[in-house]
Order: sequence, then C-alpha cells, then structure tokens
Amino acid sequence: MTRTWLGGAANEPDHPFGVSTLPYGVVVTGGQPQPAVRIGDSALLLRPATEALLPEHAGLFAGGNLDAFLAAGHDSWVDVRTAVTGWLTDDAHRELLEPLLIPLAGLPAVLPFSVADYVDFYASEHHARNVGQIFRPDSDSLLPNWKHLPVGYHGRAGTVVVSGADVRRPRGQRKGAEGVEFGPSKSLDIEAEVGFVVGVGSSQGRPAPITDFTRHVFGVVLLNDWSARDIQAWEYVPLGPFLGKSFATSISAWITPLAALETARAPAVPREPAPLPYLDDTGDSWNLDLSIEVRLNGELISRPPFAAMYWTGAQMMAHMTVNGASLRTGDLFGSGTVSGPERDQRGSLLELSWGGSQPFTLSDGFARSYLADGDEVVMTATAPGPEGARIGIAEVRGRITSALDGTG
Ligand code: CA
Repeated sequence: MTRTWLGGAANEPDHPFGVSTLPYGVVVTGGQPQPAVRIGDSALLLRPATEALLPEHAGLFAGGNLDAFLAAGHDSWVDVRTAVTGWLTDDAHRELLEPLLIPLAGLPAVLPFSVADYVDFYASEHHARNVGQIFRPDSDSLLPNWKHLPVGYHGRAGTVVVSGADVRRPRGQRKGAEGVEFGPSKSLDIEAEVGFVVGVGSSQGRPAPITDFTRHVFGVVLLNDWSARDIQAWEYVPLGPFLGKSFATSISAWITPLAALETARAPAVPREPAPLPYLDDTGDSWNLDLSIEVRLNGELISRPPFAAMYWTGAQMMAHMTVNGASLRTGDLFGSGTVSGPERDQRGSLLELSWGGSQPFTLSDGFARSYLADGDEVVMTATAPGPEGARIGIAEVRGRITSALDGTG
C-alpha cells in the first residue's frame, strides 16, 4: 500500500482517508474559508501548497470554495491529484507541507461548493418496491415507467446544508383523521443517498452521454434527503415531492473524486427490459461498490449496499440531459434512497418501520418509527481501494431540533 510521511492513522490500511482517497473540501482557518484536501484526520491547505509547488494551478484555490477547481475540468483534476499524491508520499516535501496541515478535530465544516441545481432520483429497485408496497399495497409495487428510465424530480438547491448543520423539524399540512391539519411533522425521516457533484457543465440542447460521465462529474458525497412523510403524502399528487423534502438536504463536507473510485466500480445489476441506447452502459458501468452505514444516536440501524442500485450515476446524468437540459458547475444529483434486499439494508425509517407499523427500539428503550427531536443521524461509507486500502466517503451528520411554535 502506498504510504504517506504523515504519522498517525493515515497509514493504517483500513483508514478511509489514506493517500488513496484524498477528498476535497473547505476548512476555515483564521476566519477565512480555504480549499483543502483531506489526508487522514488532517487537512492540507491547497492555496499555499499549490503556490509553492504547482503555481500554474494556484489560481484554482484562491477563492473560498472549490467552484473554480470543479469548473477547471478533468485534466486539471488529474494534475492536482497526481501532484498532491506525490507531495504526501515523498519525504522531500515534508518540511514545506507540514506547516500547511491542520488537524480536523474541532474545525467547523463548510459547504465545499456553490450548489447550482439539485436533482433527486429514485434509483433503488428495493427502495421503490418497498415504498410501493407500503403506500399502494393493492397494486403493482413498481410503476410502469420505472425500469425504462431513472425516475427523478428537481429539488431545492438553496437548502442543501453541510454535514453537522442542525435540521429544524418542518411544519406543514397533513391529512388527519378529522380533516386537514397543520403543525410540526409527525413522521420526519431520513433517506440514505449518494450525491454526485458536477464539475464541468454542458451546453443546452446537447445531451451529455454516459461515456462523458467522468468529463462532467467530479466526485461523490453522502446525502441525507430529510423527508417529512406526512407532509409528502398529502401534497405529492400529482406533481411529486415539494415541501416534504425541500426544507433541508445534508451532504458531506468532503467530495471524494471519481478518480479515487476506479477500484470500486462494479458490474451493473441485471436489467430487464434492456435500457434504451442512451442508457445502455454495457461494458462501461459506473455502478459503485459503496458500503453505507447509517447510525441513529450512535447505533448502527442499517447497512445499505450501493452496488444493489438499478441505475448508475452515469445513467442519471445521461437521462437528465437527454432532452437538451444542460449541466452547470455545482449541480448536485442524488441517487435516491439506497436500500438492499435485506431488512437491515433499508435506507429510510419509512422502510425500517414499514410505514410506522413496525416500530423499532434503540438501546435507550424508546420505540420509534420516525425521528424524535434531538435525534442525530450519521451516515458513512467506504469502498474497496487499491492494494487492500479502503476509500472513504466523508460522513454526513445532522441533528433534529424542535419545530417553531405556533400554527400560522
Ligand atoms: Ca430522496
């Protein structure tokens, strides 16, 4: 395994942020947000590092976020990753770089890029079938379009928040036994998802094909698509999710680049019927073998397997541009809830409690179907890396605070 001169955990083979991962984020030092790359439990400041060692790319890190780097494109992404890997593994750079390393413990997290458009898909067959059985027990669990296209909707980019931000319980309308009610959501849920971050945009009118996935998409984050099931159930027909989803979406503070996930690529799941040509990924699947873990108040409640997804991120990108819609730097698209075939692989409380009919009990003895005020949810993920290493996708963490008072 490739080793870094950093001491500590970064060289342990099962550390998810060893020298094979190197995700990008933003840290605040001296009151200033600065682009950084994560190694172990430290952040390397990229502006001073590139000014000293890679001056032709220093301009990409002069701002307070990763936007310029994302927009710079694939060749620049390769140049920087290659350079950073060399710096961290060659002892010759130690003296220069050590002062630019900052311990992550206690540092506030910052949203690493400006979120442009946010799209959310529904690409897990296990999740879609579970939800179909819970909400429509008397009809076919999959709707007729589901195996022909990655179903999705446009969400609210302005309420994407970084890991660690509290999430206030939303209020809204729901259908009660006596009629329409208004108040704090009584069925606040999580959705364990993988988010894809677009670096290079595309031109309006020109679809972005599957084969251009790595030209447009920079990397992945974990995404918790908080969902108020009672608000959602009342509002969603006929136009889909709206206020039940738009109050907050949490993402990791660090973006793991696709370049770190080559060893995590997995064969596509069998698909029947065969997808249309623009969705055909035969021989070039971007299915990813990510093992996700979901913890509620510290207890492991689910281990959703991303490799069980029906549609891949590359197919989602191809589908959302096939009509001529363009991509922009900073676009974020979520996979939809990741659920596997087993009970303990379900990525939402809706599924884990089977629509509230099977509450589960944590070690605090408190039975619940959905989130209580004060609950904290943490999602993490790892993937197989080179030479036995593990690749990490940074955690996404969020805690529920109580709803605003009042009814108006
Ligand atoms: Ca979702």
